[in-house]
Amino acid sequence: MKRRHITILAAMSLALCVAIALLWFDSKRNLAGIGLGISSTAIYGAIAHDGTLWLGVAYEQPRSFVNTVRRPIGAGDKFGPTVAGFGWMRDSNAYFLGLPFWMLLPAAAGLSIWLWRARPPKHAAGVCRRCGYDLRATPDRCPECGAAVTPAD
Ligand SMILES: [Zn+2]
Repeated sequence: MKRRHITILAAMSLALCVAIALLWFDSKRNLAGIGLGISSTAIYGAIAHDGTLWLGVAYEQPRSFVNTVRRPIGAGDKFGPTVAGFGWMRDSNAYFLGLPFWMLLPAAAGLSIWLWRARPPKHAAGVCRRCGYDLRATPDRCPECGAAVTPAD
């Protein structure tokens, strides 16, 4: 894969880290979720609540295709049971798996770092300056992007 694409992926996963951190912080006070009304009787999505991100399906009629909620956590909001933030919830109205933010944040951070370090070097000897393709077999022109290799390269 090209260096630029991996850089973009690394930036996206870094943005995911920030989003996870903000959602984690917010989940202590607010219940926030987004769900897709894929069928007329179920909403598939994710809900952040008290340090856990719940992924699953709620069996209720969607108001629209994209359904969002964000409100202060109320006494009636029951999720669980949970163990160290991991959880499960299964009843007649919902089926959810809970993943803790303390695990999601380092996982996303690790992905960012791994992607950043996996980028090919920018101007290594014997590779195309434009796309990073290996030019050892074709020293005059890059077979990947067509760039001519100048003597300065
Ligand atoms: Zn090239």
